[in-house]
Amino acid sequence: MTAEPLLAIRGLRKSFGGLQAVRGVDLDVADGAIVGLIGPNGSGKTTVLNLVTGEIAADGGSVRLAGQEMIGLPAFRVCRSRIARTFQLVRILPGMTTRENVMVGRLFGAEPTTPARARDEVGALLECVGLAARADQAGSQLTYIDQKRVELARALATRPRVLLLDEWLAGLNPSELQIGIALIRRLRDEGVTIVMIEHVMEAIRALCDHVVVMSAGALIASGAPDAVLSDPEVARVYLGE
Ligand code: ADP
Repeated sequence: MTAEPLLAIRGLRKSFGGLQAVRGVDLDVADGAIVGLIGPNGSGKTTVLNLVTGEIAADGGSVRLAGQEMIGLPAFRVCRSRIARTFQLVRILPGMTTRENVMVGRLFGAEPTTPARARDEVGALLECVGLAARADQAGSQLTYIDQKRVELARALATRPRVLLLDEWLAGLNPSELQIGIALIRRLRDEGVTIVMIEHVMEAIRALCDHVVVMSAGALIASGAPDAVLSDPEVARVYLGE
């Protein structure tokens, strides 16, 4: 018998009124993997993340993290079970400094700690994402990539085993993209399992062990990036033909 994957999604379903946004999605994410979730706009990708994190209630199905059921738990419990995410539209607290924004994640996350240790941990995270020099700058003053870094550091501060990235690389210029790709790879090397929604195919090819494609609420293809991205059916749904 093979061991259960770190994250096991089975039969996940969600409708909004008459719209079946997610229609029975099954997905296994192995411990230590980077899985890419791709598909055209409106295909249900963000809804899958919202269901996994408990931000919206599922109509049916199961999401197990290391064998523990997440469906039915409130979002803060899912977070404390060590699933974290970033949002497609960055959510910075503008009146707080970079450090305070990240501290929010540390205080919200899994394990209680002392203020001094939390401060050290947040300092290390700011260093890791390249924000140490702007630790005391107000959130409202940060550039776009720095806001994205804050959001990533805040998610990491909750000490996730599984990190869900919703187009975290979108809108970066070519050199920022290379920095972002290197950072995601480093997180994986440090033991974080990652599921990333992403339209930047260069990043999907560079990072993912496995890619799944959604179309109209269902998974329509899955496999190694090169195989999936050269699949004519995948090209067809992207072109909307
Ligand atoms: P993707 O992330 O692939 O772009 P989404 O998961 O955001 O797709 O959306 C899938 C479908 O569900 C879309 O038709 C979208 O309009 C709809 N949808 C998503 N969230 C809601 C919501 N909270 N209420 C109503 N419809 C929603």
